[in-house]
Amino acid sequence: MRELNRLSEEITHILAAGEVVERPASCLKEVIENSIDAGASLIDIKLEKGGIKKIEVYDNGKGIHSDDIEYVFERHTTSKIKSVDDIFKITTMGFRGEALCAISSVSKVTLISRHYEQEQGCKVEVEGGKVLSKTIYPFEKGTKITIEDLFYNTPARLKFLKSPSTEQKYCIEVVEKISICYPEISFRMQVDNKRQLFTPGDSKVESAIASVFGSEILKNLIDFSHQEKGLKVWGFFVNPVLSKSTRSGYHFYVNRRFIRSKLLSTCIDEAFKNSILTGRFPIVFLFIEINPVDIDVNVHPAKLEIKFRDERYVYNTVYKTVSSALQSEKMIPKPTLDS
Ligand code: ADP
Ligand code: MG
Repeated sequence: MRELNRLSEEITHILAAGEVVERPASCLKEVIENSIDAGASLIDIKLEKGGIKKIEVYDNGKGIHSDDIEYVFERHTTSKIKSVDDIFKITTMGFRGEALCAISSVSKVTLISRHYEQEQGCKVEVEGGKVLSKTIYPFEKGTKITIEDLFYNTPARLKFLKSPSTEQKYCIEVVEKISICYPEISFRMQVDNKRQLFTPGDSKVESAIASVFGSEILKNLIDFSHQEKGLKVWGFFVNPVLSKSTRSGYHFYVNRRFIRSKLLSTCIDEAFKNSILTGRFPIVFLFIEINPVDIDVNVHPAKLEIKFRDERYVYNTVYKTVSSALQSEKMIPKPTLDS
């Protein structure tokens, strides 16, 4: 007897969702990135119970056309790329057309939007990937997406989540990280009805850093910048008198996308080796602007890692830039162990 089954669309969607949507923070990241791609200057975020119960994101971007609105939940529907060539020169945060499909297959989503060229808004309700309703809806501008009861239909996934307070922490981290590399956008975040974060949207990275991390950090920021062929490296580090016991103060951005990077972590470790106590780590905001053809953002499902075509060149340029800024500052010398 044959044993091979073709999986139903419902199952394949849920399986695919696992790669994009791991937890509330990954949903939140995806919808915020959609708001950024829509050209928003204001993004308002509300979270309940660590995002497990509810994530709501409003943006004042260009909106979704009423003819398109229910199709954004289908797999591989995107307005951002058209050809194979486009994959290798990505300029938007999203491009795979997967996020809303993935999120809506494992939650209950309400999407309200008004396209900037239309007179009226539209509201769509989706549950477990199925569109339940589509109605005309008065809406002033932009898009509001509400994601409720994440993983309600995949109890095994729900069990893998941490406590609401830990999930909440991950969500806040996502907003903190993104808001710093988009200082022209005013981010507002409420957690369980309390104000958590507010950035002014005045286009200054320093203002966003101060809003998120406080004025003490701002007073101790030291900037660095360097440009070479096809590569710009710039940013700030905080005087190592304010150091951390982990690398949680490492903030890396490549073409305005926050990433994790072993390569860059090692590079920062090395650059600070003689300026900080062993076991302590600096706070660094590192921005890399590189020709999109010199990176591959397609190596990680949530795009948290990227691949540089020439790793050594990037490493050396970052190392040189950060070290020379460190040397030119009058840092407090590294104390010896017996001092
Ligand atoms: P991707 O971002 O990779 O295109 P998504 O599933 O995240 O895929 O979104 C699908 C499409 O829905 C987007 O390409 C865009 O056209 C539309 N969209 C989603 N969110 C918004 C938003 N906040 N404002 C305007 N359009 C949006
Ligand atoms: Mg997207």
